[in-house]
Amino acid sequence: MATPRNFRIIPLADERPRKVSVASVASELRTTGAGLTALQDAQGRTLRDLRISVTDRCNFRCSYCMPKEVFDKDHPYLPQSALLSFEEITRLTRQFVAQGVRKIRLTGGEPLLRKNIEVLIAQLAALRTPEGLPLDLTLTTNGSMLAKKAQALKDAGLQRVTVSLDGLDDAVFRNMNDVDFPVAEVLRGIDAAQAAGLGPIKVNMVVKRGTNEQQILPMARHFKGTGIVLRFIEYMDVGATNGWRMAEVLPSADVVRLLQTEWPLVALEHASAGETAQRWGYVDANGQPDKQAGEIGVISSVTQAFCGDCTRARLSTEGQLYLCLFASRGYDLRTLLRDGSADAQLTAAIRNIWEQRSDQYSALRSTLPHGSPTPGRRVEMSYIGG
Ligand code: SAM
Ligand code: SF4
Ligand code: SF4
Repeated sequence: MATPRNFRIIPLADERPRKVSVASVASELRTTGAGLTALQDAQGRTLRDLRISVTDRCNFRCSYCMPKEVFDKDHPYLPQSALLSFEEITRLTRQFVAQGVRKIRLTGGEPLLRKNIEVLIAQLAALRTPEGLPLDLTLTTNGSMLAKKAQALKDAGLQRVTVSLDGLDDAVFRNMNDVDFPVAEVLRGIDAAQAAGLGPIKVNMVVKRGTNEQQILPMARHFKGTGIVLRFIEYMDVGATNGWRMAEVLPSADVVRLLQTEWPLVALEHASAGETAQRWGYVDANGQPDKQAGEIGVISSVTQAFCGDCTRARLSTEGQLYLCLFASRGYDLRTLLRDGSADAQLTAAIRNIWEQRSDQYSALRSTLPHGSPTPGRRVEMSYIGG
């Protein structure tokens, strides 16, 4: 990945350096003012999606994301002062929207742990695109607090939620979240989200071979015909702490084959450019997509890289901009914000960083010997958000 001149590099979460001034950077960058051209990276990919991590903390300890042994009580979580404030997030988001971002996903850590998250949602919901339209505003959650918060989130202006749920069997689920959290409470959260109108809801299930693949069919049976889109995610080699092994990845093709033992499925078109999931529809008696029965998705991050049209940037809890889920470094926008940079300087920084982006880590992985994780030290998913 090329490094824009003078930007400081942010290493892994537990080695974050203290403040380094980058005030000079913004003024050296190309300030283009009005009439900016559409923003594309070095591979011709536009910037459409911004994932914003609002906390690096979580009440779960999913072994594939925040294993207990690493994320224990001595783990150095960010102090409050390091977090971007809601005003800082909103100001930055406004600049991203001016550069083409149309979809915002709040994530973490567990985003519902961030105090007064509804206030941030209301601020983001009030933003408009240059065409005067609202943003597509969504949030990914483990669902543990959703039953309590769904209505307030909706009232604040959140449009949709994605809920992570790795199985229906209580013992399997408690084992995967590793804090003995019951599945019934997450299901209650999904019901509350549906009742509040936070749909269409997506449910994400990370499939780990040898751990929860026996939950694939029960999950599909449970959500079929509910209007909820279940998506199976390949277990990824994100971060440096989950002890990822290729042997624990169940390829999406196997997931689809398994589902087809129970239901015929038909491949559906991508709903939008840059979509991560391949969509499969249940079919009716005539072999046509059955809208009532709905669809499932598979996200093949390991076996079928989709870097070619990756339009996603990630903003960490402390305001570092990451250009890829597998990146080991980020670009410090918080210092620019806190040093009093003007909007034009923030815009110039965002454009400069994106224009030099060439990340395609998943595509790179497929060129490595079978079973190799991507090389280099990678940032944790709980730090930049999924
Ligand atoms: N705590 C929230 C949640 O779990 O939905 C939001 C943050 S979480 C990091 C975002 C998504 O990343 C979740 O759907 C989670 O299952 C997924 N995820 C985390 N680690 C993963 C891994 N190693 N492979 C695949 N997906 C992963
Ligand atoms: Fe927490 Fe989400 Fe990571 Fe699980 S996947 S540990 S719920 S941040
Ligand atoms: Fe995008 Fe990086 Fe994932 Fe490729 S590996 S799809 S560039 S986030």
